Amino acid sequence: MIRNPKYVYGPQSVLVPANINFGDYVLEKMWPFRQNVCMINGATDEQLTYNDIIQQAMNFAVSLTRMGVRKGDTIALFAENRQEYWGAVVGVACSGAVLTTINTGYVKDELIHVTNISKPKYFIISPSMYEAHAKTIRSQKFVKKIIIFGNEKKQNTLSFDDMALEKNGLIRNVKYEEFQSVEVQGQTDTLFIMYSSGTTGLPKGVMTTHLNVITACGLPASHDATKVSLTISPWYHVMGLVGTLTALVTGRTAVYIPKFSVDVYLRSIEKYQVVQLTVVPPVLVAVCKNKSKYDLSSVRMIYSGAAPLHKDTIQDVKATFPNVQGVYQGYGATELTLAVLRYQFNDPVNKLGSVGVVSPNTVLKVVDIETREPLGPNQRGELCAKGELLMKGYVNLGRGSDFDDEGFYKTGDIAYYDDDGYFFIVDRLKELIKYKGFQVPPAEIEAVLLHHEGIKEAAVIGIDNRAAGEVPLAFVVPQPGSTLSEKEVQDFVAERLSNPKHLRGGVRFVDQIPKSPAGKLLRKDLRKMLKTMKSKL
Ligand code: AMP
Repeated sequence: MIRNPKYVYGPQSVLVPANINFGDYVLEKMWPFRQNVCMINGATDEQLTYNDIIQQAMNFAVSLTRMGVRKGDTIALFAENRQEYWGAVVGVACSGAVLTTINTGYVKDELIHVTNISKPKYFIISPSMYEAHAKTIRSQKFVKKIIIFGNEKKQNTLSFDDMALEKNGLIRNVKYEEFQSVEVQGQTDTLFIMYSSGTTGLPKGVMTTHLNVITACGLPASHDATKVSLTISPWYHVMGLVGTLTALVTGRTAVYIPKFSVDVYLRSIEKYQVVQLTVVPPVLVAVCKNKSKYDLSSVRMIYSGAAPLHKDTIQDVKATFPNVQGVYQGYGATELTLAVLRYQFNDPVNKLGSVGVVSPNTVLKVVDIETREPLGPNQRGELCAKGELLMKGYVNLGRGSDFDDEGFYKTGDIAYYDDDGYFFIVDRLKELIKYKGFQVPPAEIEAVLLHHEGIKEAAVIGIDNRAAGEVPLAFVVPQPGSTLSEKEVQDFVAERLSNPKHLRGGVRFVDQIPKSPAGKLLRKDLRKMLKTMKSKL
């Protein structure tokens, strides 16, 4: 076949064993580092070695299989970042089951929405999530068993420690040499289901295969494996889940903090002499604002992703971290198994504002939004991606309209690449809002607003906010005779959706919402309306 000169091809440098279970792959990679410290909880100083995780994972996989878990069963993991997480993730992978990671910020309706997509038979849950959501989970008919992290004994539940730790006396440690994961077909068998609204609508279940994750882990490292790194991404999100797995295969020591606090974050940098930070832009903004009493001179490299990074923030970073050599950005999406654009560790080039070059085993194109024709360098259009990092599809929906005729995923992001093949993300075509790196699908807020009896029509857009990236703002057409206030609308949403989806941008009452003849909300026109409203103030 002839290559298209306008497509940007990554090197085909990662050889992926097609039919290996990701669990076996990651165990084999971690084994040489078994004496090393793998995870440090920056808030409590608890530590785990690679051996601890390997042992927990193998024991847990055997216990799951004994319990009746079979290849293709779905298991939910619903927990804040904590020590047992990786034993559970790798253990589930080895058992051949599909793991679905759930956002710990979710309120009841959001939890019901996503679990109705993935229908997990089993739940692995932290005590605090169990406390908050046990009733909802138990009311779901498809859930057969609940496993609680730690040693908690609650009625009709199992404890993770009993299933993964020999010290509790119920199981024997499995030997590495004798262990083997359940066989899978790496190209087609789903390993993870994460949630993303993609370019439109409500959150959907993204099916990520074993092959996708092995490819992500096989990419040349962006971090220096011999140096301590600090991450704050929640582990249910692709950046935390796949990002951490790519660290495990290199033997890196990672400091994490279960809940972001600027003070714990900065203290951890000083205490553990952290060299590399993985951040989302709002974390950098918060950290740079804080005049630190801690010594941050150990930090050399900063890696940012999940949302646009403002050039001013890059400038501020230099004043906060005296020895930082660079802030490197990567670009990806849940649908793209972490990052299709990135800088490799030790890349001598670092173009301000660029998200790097195409990842190995990936093909990218930038297309004209109207004609869908591929564009050459320095021309802006929609970024589309294909290759071994691209998800299998959405649960129950397959590939649908999010893919073009050639099988490229339409990212909904506007980008261009320069003459050297470095990419820049310049705008977003899709409706998605990103609050502190978290997905805020406008359709979800709109659906909630339409349930209010005083609201006739509603539309939500994101507005720029330096600290958070974007915040959601609602346009509301009240029912005739309704006397709704802005606060009532904000409270109504706050009671029904998780924190990032709260209407921090405010509410504008209007007579009508601009729509296309086909009834589609015209968000561009809403943005214009907002500008006119502001200029009249
Ligand atoms: P998620 O699936 O939650 O990771 O969200 C993916 C979306 O986040 C992308 O489609 C982009 O809109 C946005 N995004 C991710 N990385 C970047 C980046 N470096 N710059 C700008 N936007 C980004």
